[in-house]
Amino acid sequence: MTEYSFSGQLYIDGRRTDGETDTVLTVRNPATEQTIAHVPQASLADVRRAITVARKAFDDGPWPRFTPGERAAILLRMAAEMERRLPELVAVNMAEAGSVRPLAETLQTRVPIAHLRDMAERVLPAFGWQQPLEPTITPGLGISQGVVRREPYGVCSLIAAYNFPFFLSMMKLIPALAAGCTVVLKPAPNTPLESLLIGDFADAAGLPPGVLNIVTGDIEAGVELTTNPMVDLVSFTGSDTVGRMVYVQAAASMKKVILELGGKSASIVRADGDLDGAVRSAFVGITTHAGQGCSLLTSTIVHESVHDEVVERLLARLSEVRVGDPAQESTTMGPLISAAQRDKVEKLIRVGQDEGARIACGGGRPAGTDRGYFVEPTLFTGVDPSMTIAQTEFFGPVGVVIPYRTDDEAIRIANATPYGLSGAVWSADTVAAYDLAARIRTGTVAINGGGAGVTPRVPFGGYKQSGIGREWGEFGLDEYLQSKTVAWAAR
Ligand code: NAD
Repeated sequence: MTEYSFSGQLYIDGRRTDGETDTVLTVRNPATEQTIAHVPQASLADVRRAITVARKAFDDGPWPRFTPGERAAILLRMAAEMERRLPELVAVNMAEAGSVRPLAETLQTRVPIAHLRDMAERVLPAFGWQQPLEPTITPGLGISQGVVRREPYGVCSLIAAYNFPFFLSMMKLIPALAAGCTVVLKPAPNTPLESLLIGDFADAAGLPPGVLNIVTGDIEAGVELTTNPMVDLVSFTGSDTVGRMVYVQAAASMKKVILELGGKSASIVRADGDLDGAVRSAFVGITTHAGQGCSLLTSTIVHESVHDEVVERLLARLSEVRVGDPAQESTTMGPLISAAQRDKVEKLIRVGQDEGARIACGGGRPAGTDRGYFVEPTLFTGVDPSMTIAQTEFFGPVGVVIPYRTDDEAIRIANATPYGLSGAVWSADTVAAYDLAARIRTGTVAINGGGAGVTPRVPFGGYKQSGIGREWGEFGLDEYLQSKTVAWAAR
């Protein structure tokens, strides 16, 4: 079995550094439990220095004052460097996040680089940075005219979750840097390596020092990044539990907060729907990255007349999954990130059983995996919408199937969770499907498998407790900008 070994350092003020710390963060391969890297865990002093440097780079440095074209040129050089080092990024992603190769080569790496190129080539040149204000007559006060300027928000703390380490860091970095902000990026403690590499890409591209700073750590670093008064904006991706804390922490100094949180996304399968497509999509929802995706469709709400057929076909597909180390080419589903995450998933599976749902497949650890944090692909049937497993995010390879009778009931079930990230409808009647899509309270809805996918041309984000704000493309850029009205008296 191949074991990789990687290294990484903090990146502050344009320099790689071991920081003012003796504490080391151990990074493990979740498929083998072997240590693949030791990186410095940033101390409070390191995080504060990174914030101070970012503040200075914003207040006095060239980056916020560059033209969008100048920023785009540097971002394109970063993209080229990422493309050159793609094989390394893929290898690190497979080793630290436990992705299977097809995922590591696409969504985990190439897709975010394509977003970066799109920002530099399409969004930045066309963006309305300045809108003229027509001369306005206010009776008794005179005539004024002017412009509405879009200006970078300021110093941004970017905090990411573990499951798509490079992708999630990039979805924050791309709009923040494009806007002219300066940033401190903190990846999740179990998957810091890909994000630490971004410092190399910035160096190679000639990003001015202090614009991008990368620190490691967990709660202490996260609290500092969300409370330090020098920070203007916090963009956070993670669980709703921590998201709530971040919202409160940031409130004291009135920071702008963007939250990308968890989900419990439902697919509504009508009796006239393409059952093959619906089953494929449910399969993808349960097994992709072992269910560790925020917007995966893990609840299948299926019309009672086709319920048994859907379950039967889904079980057939799930029985073909090959769980194991992603380093083996034959593996189709990898591990969970940690023992703690596996415990959480297993505990929730037990809650499902205790509440009376039926395990149709899986529910345990796959045979022959004595090392690595694996859980079998698992399907629950006999699920009532009020059950804990119908309401709570597993973030593991577990799906639930819930039968329904009428469209209204399907919508009630789909909307009954605290979350609102994504959804799907399967129906031959596209008008009815569109009507249902409009009633689902989520940021994205796919009809008959037509996902907007991962194109930077759409906004991504959540309704309800799945988050606040939007990422990707011009929608993401907009979040990192302030509007300023400059008006002058017309003579
Ligand atoms: P998590 O909430 O445990 O941690 C996320 C980040 O918060 C980490 O970097 C962690 O170090 C940091 N953190 C911890 N305590 C903090 C505090 N008090 N203040 C500031 N930062 C703090 O999440 P996770 O386990 O890494 O990721 C899984 C979760 O992320 C799931 O709920 C998933 O749905 C969600 N997620 C959402 C999206 C999205 O775009 N909506 C994408 C990926 C993952």
